[in-house]
Amino acid sequence: MPYATLSYEWLGPAIFLSGGGAFLLLYLHDRKQQAALRLSGAYLLSVVGFVGVMLVDTDRQPAYQALILGSLFAGHFLLLWGVASLFGKDVPWPPYVLAVLLTAGAALYANHQGPLFWVRVIAVSGFASFVYLMCCLLVWRARSHRVDLVLASVFLIQAGLSVSRVVRVEISDVDMTTHSAFKSSQLASSMQTENAIFAIMIGLALFARYSVTLVQQLRRLAETDPLTGLLNRRAFEARVQALRAASAPLPTGLIICDIDHFKRVNDRHGHEVGDRTLKAFARLLERETPQTALCARLGGEEFCILVAGLDDEAIRLQAIHLRSAVERLHIATSTGSLRLTASFGYCELAPGDDLPRALAEVDAAVYQAKSDGRNLVRRAGSPPTATQQARFV
Ligand code: GH3
Ligand code: MG
Ligand code: MG
Repeated sequence: MPYATLSYEWLGPAIFLSGGGAFLLLYLHDRKQQAALRLSGAYLLSVVGFVGVMLVDTDRQPAYQALILGSLFAGHFLLLWGVASLFGKDVPWPPYVLAVLLTAGAALYANHQGPLFWVRVIAVSGFASFVYLMCCLLVWRARSHRVDLVLASVFLIQAGLSVSRVVRVEISDVDMTTHSAFKSSQLASSMQTENAIFAIMIGLALFARYSVTLVQQLRRLAETDPLTGLLNRRAFEARVQALRAASAPLPTGLIICDIDHFKRVNDRHGHEVGDRTLKAFARLLERETPQTALCARLGGEEFCILVAGLDDEAIRLQAIHLRSAVERLHIATSTGSLRLTASFGYCELAPGDDLPRALAEVDAAVYQAKSDGRNLVRRAGSPPTATQQARFV
């Protein structure tokens, strides 16, 4: 192999290959990472396109033109698909299909009309910039982290550069009649380098975005109860401080509830119905409390709610509201509709009050509600008065 072929020209394919390899490794490590598989495909197909352009004289071997164009279409499609799935979105099909048709049409027309290489440049650059622009818009609209602004900007710059390529080719005096003439020009190699640099920048920005996504996924997994999707106890305790600070100087209201005779649900209807009941109960808590409330599963069939800005009376009313909402809940089973009740404890949490102590006291109030007959609401820290002993108070 001549020494000259090891020139910086190979930088582009080498970068695309390592980008593709890195995303592929990420996918092989965790097969659920479909976005990584698609991005890996995008980078690896770009290697085909890059190497094809470098090694093949498409003027003499036009059949390879189809291979290069095909890998370009598929590679850019996978890039768009990968970016869309990284943000949990669908591919914007109509604009993509339109761009493919326009590009293919222009490329075919150029081939048909003889040496119209520059028409192909316009078509291909136009197509690439259109896809980068779609990626940019997709990221911009789905942005949720600072790294997304970087990613959207890199896509936007790359889109602009792709368009500017057409202009730069137009105003240069490079021979554009054939591919081989253009390929050997200074302009062509500087554009290759530019492409390689942006491949690195896009790859790094995508990797940064991927890291953010993975960290967010891990955090969500660590913070949520897998069955109900509510916060787990640890995440609840970690978030209490922020909600109390936001609520200050107003107090927050704390409620703990425990489903009554839940063991019977499992015994009579099976564990699957039991699980479904817990999920329905969790949805009820989310539905019947303010949006800013923290709802958590403390364990088993015991749940906890913290609502900002509620004093003693307001949190009592919230607990009573929940108690009656639980009574109205219907769970469908093979033997008909299952009804539930739950016992509630509550307290007002003034700024500065100790959370573990409050949790213990509200837990004792739940126990009190159980021993008073269940399906009741009890205030923490106060012995049951005559009024409180009345049902449903
Ligand atoms: P009480 O009214 O005194 O609260 O009675 P209980 O039957 O609700 O309470 P107990 O603590 O005796 O039983 C709780 C049951 O909850 C026992 C356990 O099998 C069930 N349980 C705990 N976690 C789960 C779960 O994730 N899924 C299902 N299906 N059942 C669960
Ligand atoms: Mg129970
Ligand atoms: Mg319990």
